[in-house]
Amino acid sequence: TVAVALFTRDLRVHDNPVLHAAATGADRVIPLFVLDPAITGTGFAGPNRADFLALSLADLDDALRARGAALVVRRGDPRQELAELVAEHDVTDVHLAADVSGHAQRRQDALVDGLDARVHLHDASITAVAPGAITPSGGGAHFAVFTPYLRRWQETGQRSPLPPPDRLRMPDLDPGKVPEAAEISSGDPAEDLVGGGERNGRSLLSEWADGLVDDYSSGHDDLAGDRTSRLSPHLHFGTLSPTEVVHRVGTRTQGAQEFVRQVAWRDFHHQVLAANPRTSIEDYRPRGDDWRDAPEELRAWAEGRTGYPIVDAGMRQLLREGWMHNRARMITASFLTKTLHHDWRAGARHFLWHLVDGDVANNQMNWQWVAGTGTDTRPNRVLNPQRQAERYDPRGDYVRRYVPELRGIDGPAVHAPWKLPDDQRRGLSYPEPIVDLDFGRRRFLDARTSD
Ligand code: FAD
Repeated sequence: TVAVALFTRDLRVHDNPVLHAAATGADRVIPLFVLDPAITGTGFAGPNRADFLALSLADLDDALRARGAALVVRRGDPRQELAELVAEHDVTDVHLAADVSGHAQRRQDALVDGLDARVHLHDASITAVAPGAITPSGGGAHFAVFTPYLRRWQETGQRSPLPPPDRLRMPDLDPGKVPEAAEISSGDPAEDLVGGGERNGRSLLSEWADGLVDDYSSGHDDLAGDRTSRLSPHLHFGTLSPTEVVHRVGTRTQGAQEFVRQVAWRDFHHQVLAANPRTSIEDYRPRGDDWRDAPEELRAWAEGRTGYPIVDAGMRQLLREGWMHNRARMITASFLTKTLHHDWRAGARHFLWHLVDGDVANNQMNWQWVAGTGTDTRPNRVLNPQRQAERYDPRGDYVRRYVPELRGIDGPAVHAPWKLPDDQRRGLSYPEPIVDLDFGRRRFLDARTSD
């Protein structure tokens, strides 16, 4: 018998329910990746994720070859490519991971309906707890509040990680060429982009779980300290399994517990999107916002030229690394959607293009959370970037790292260049603030309460 293991965003051999089921259920396996033109060449395929994806596919190919197989790559509509393989190689079973976005759900439906083979959707591969596996006791398809979700998530526990297959047998076929980044997206990746692939992910996870995670509770909000795991792109592309991450980190220290809680946030957002795929573009809870349309402001925000150093540092970290610290994501997103009162979709689009961990569930749901149209229970809270800067970048090191024009200013004074003596201020090629914070806050609150 021949089975297909269709890789999507589970690009690993360790703890991969799809590969494991295909390898144990059939004599021969076709490990398949389909490069889908409905994704490449769109706003979902920015150069940073293209780079990470290409490296991850090459690494997966190496891991499969070390086990006697290879990554089979096809280009085109997944259903059509699969139908051809099914017919040519008498494939009886197709395995793939269940995913949450509208696009992924439509793809799954098309495969289940359209293939002359049994199609198996594997839950708890892309998330640690499958969307829909836990539902609120009061009814409803998903949890809309995190704390009760977390409680149930913790009580439910996760399955045990699966071992990688030792040996794989593959039918005789031409595997095709693993794509390079340029085939997936055009444009150059960020200067300081991290490298993709399961091997890189596993070594990061080891370092993290063997010690660094213990400082997570004290360090995760320290912008300059940069003491979060940076596992997000690996979780997005599945070069690490969330189940394995949770098992490996455990709960032995407070840092480990708080870190695992963040992974549960990831599952939380995935179950919200799975139940409401349209909220990738529509408000989860519409608040009647009359968003402002001011393209110059949007451009200044995107390029890190708002005149607020903490906002600009975050936006420039995104451009330089294809990644941004979580605290900076909150500050910059609140600044755009509340202080400037721009539509969250414009910010989410910019993030999704640049973020190497850009993820429809985590990005769109977090944007909605910050904009107050999502599941946040305090939708009218406005973060004050200056107070955030004092608290989370008290010495100003984060700003100096990403905003070179301000490098000559010592200490926390870097957060308010407009307060510098005139002669010093004049020497800086750094813009004046594009909005007064109190004015922006009031404009947002007035607009919300008048609706
Ligand atoms: P750690 O602090 O080490 O956390 C560990 C893991 O938990 C992360 O890798 C991530 O998978 C998960 N996690 C942490 N915080 C959150 C959160 N708030 N929501 C969901 N999962 C979380 N995360 C993405 O993976 N992709 C995105 O596209 C994305 N867009 C975001 C947009 C905005 C406006 C905001 C406020 C947050 C966004 N996040 C996104 C969530 C979070 O900022 C990142 O997951 C985190 O910064 C990644 O860094 P890390 O791996 O070092 O995180």
